[in-house]
Amino acid sequence: MKKFYICVQSMFLWCVCLPFIISCGVKESQSSGKERSYPYQIVTTVGMVNDIVQHVVGEKAEARNIIGEGVDPHLYKSTRNDVAALLDADVIFYAGLMLEGKMADVLVKVARTGKPVYAVTELIDEKYLLQPIEFSGHYDPHVWMDVQGWIKGVAAVAQALSEYDPSHATYYKENAQKYRADLEQLHTYVLESMSTIPPSSRVLITAHDAFNYFGRAYGLEVKGIQGISTESEAGVQDINQLVDIIVARDVKAVFVETSVAEKNIRALVEGANARGKEVVIGGSLFSDAMGMRGTYEGTYMGMIDHNATTIVRALGGTVPDRGMQDNLPANKKR
Ligand code: ZN
Repeated sequence: MKKFYICVQSMFLWCVCLPFIISCGVKESQSSGKERSYPYQIVTTVGMVNDIVQHVVGEKAEARNIIGEGVDPHLYKSTRNDVAALLDADVIFYAGLMLEGKMADVLVKVARTGKPVYAVTELIDEKYLLQPIEFSGHYDPHVWMDVQGWIKGVAAVAQALSEYDPSHATYYKENAQKYRADLEQLHTYVLESMSTIPPSSRVLITAHDAFNYFGRAYGLEVKGIQGISTESEAGVQDINQLVDIIVARDVKAVFVETSVAEKNIRALVEGANARGKEVVIGGSLFSDAMGMRGTYEGTYMGMIDHNATTIVRALGGTVPDRGMQDNLPANKKR
């Protein structure tokens, strides 16, 4: 299989290292003749990656996640406990394309120990990836915003797990196929919902540039106050330019993000109001982190369903009040 380490790790050849088994799980004989204990331990960085891994790995492994709800992965620095968890893991998955920019050093160090470390975006064809000029030659990492893009990550995880644990390759493949079918349904829902927004209102203004894949896939013009990474601060000029667009295009709603501070979006609303243009905050979107663990929005499916349903409602389209499968909370402003 094509290697899909992070770019900085590509210099390291990955060997399939069977882990030293110390837990008391079920032991099974591998095709190589060695034994593996189940469940084995996986550590992931962001929730969206964890969601794929859990669906594909099923009961064969436990998948712990490091960066929680509402936390910005662009700025996240690993703690001592995170490093310990990464070193203890049998396999590690992260998003890649520099999403976890501040964790790169740690991931490289862990990969150097010979542990399998995978970026789920690494198998995605470069032709698919967006390369915004302002991101200095790097690819836009927010691939999960296009459900069909994230489906490519499902294939990557299935492939990685099949290499790590070949005796269950068929199991991983079947799980991936089932999840993929659910995601295809989600993609159709988002596509159909977005098409109900009047064409002149298809402008999505958010706190940072996380929605470019979303806009490309679902037909919205996308503007973020901050750039691709939240590391760079927005200036007054950025806000003023967006106020111009809000006024000129008669934009009715802008959106905050759960993992990014609201101050810039509030400044935008105030700026538009000062020019006599009424614009509201259309809701809070999950951009780089999913919702609360244990809730529907704390799953990838729920995150995207929430986003699509919120956007469509605020921009004048028609969607079911509780989303694709009636799973979103009722009576919530969307
Ligand atoms: Zn982001």
